Amino acid sequence: MNVIQNLVSPNLYYCKCPFDMNSTRIVVHNTANDASARNEIQYMINNHNEVSFHYAVDDKEIVQGIPENRNAWHSGDGGNGVGNRQGIAIEICYSKSGGTRFDAAEVLAAKFIAFKLKEKGWGIAQVTKHQDYSPKYCPHRTLDKGWQRFLNMVQAELNALNGQSKPAVQNGALESYNGFVEITYSGADGIVLHTQASWDDSTAAETVKKGEVFTVVGRQLVDGVYMYKLKSGKWITSAKEYVSFRTELHGSTTQTTQAPTPAKPTCKYGVGTRVCTNTLSNDSAGSKVYKGEWSGKITRVIPGAKFPYLLNNGTGWTNDTGIDTDPNVPR
Ligand SMILES: [Zn+2]
Repeated sequence: MNVIQNLVSPNLYYCKCPFDMNSTRIVVHNTANDASARNEIQYMINNHNEVSFHYAVDDKEIVQGIPENRNAWHSGDGGNGVGNRQGIAIEICYSKSGGTRFDAAEVLAAKFIAFKLKEKGWGIAQVTKHQDYSPKYCPHRTLDKGWQRFLNMVQAELNALNGQSKPAVQNGALESYNGFVEITYSGADGIVLHTQASWDDSTAAETVKKGEVFTVVGRQLVDGVYMYKLKSGKWITSAKEYVSFRTELHGSTTQTTQAPTPAKPTCKYGVGTRVCTNTLSNDSAGSKVYKGEWSGKITRVIPGAKFPYLLNNGTGWTNDTGIDTDPNVPR
């Protein structure tokens, strides 16, 4: 593996890595930052804080700052702690904001950790996390997404290095699960739908963006994380950092049955307004409707609801941004 070295000066060993080390394990961290691996290492080797780690891994590069035969200060378990004195510290970058950069950094970190395990004759039991040594929720985003999931990634890479094929995706059974999933992730790269219950790039279909809503008809565990099955037959992550799940398409039911509020919200459009879809509406069948693709009338309005307008062709409920009354838009 290609590892870039930017090692701390021996003049700073007293601060960053004072002890010889015979390593017995990997200790995984997340940086809780959005800096690249090069910048994390550069910052670490240039300050005089007793904070240090051997490697930083981002979506493209592995950078080393401390020699593996010296200890580093990263596990919060003190001067004689097993984490600090026997652990090779690996920081996964871009964990503050997450998204595809972080996901790619995790993949590269899994490859690198597998490479280290093979190099040292270790197994998956030697892959530990900061949290194992002190009460800190680190590696935070890797934990949020599933620690066992990450270990599975490392194990699959180790199997590949050992000439074994990657194990088949360990799927649970398809479970009954019904509702709607809304994309909450606002990154420009969007969220990828898959054609099968798989995280593999080879099953990637189209990309969807914040605000889009799809009908969920089931769910299934895939590598330890649930994927939702959509009515279209495609699959999407259930990770709360990217999507939110709800059981109703729109939030109107309780509002219409409760006592009216003093200042009743008004709606921009009324019943009977001729409209066409603008960006998309949220079809009860889970499919998207694009600009100009459909035209019709508003048949019902529920002021104050998240999606206040019911359209007359079964397209479902939408809101101001989902429709257009401009006569020049193709109908
Ligand atoms: Zn940590």
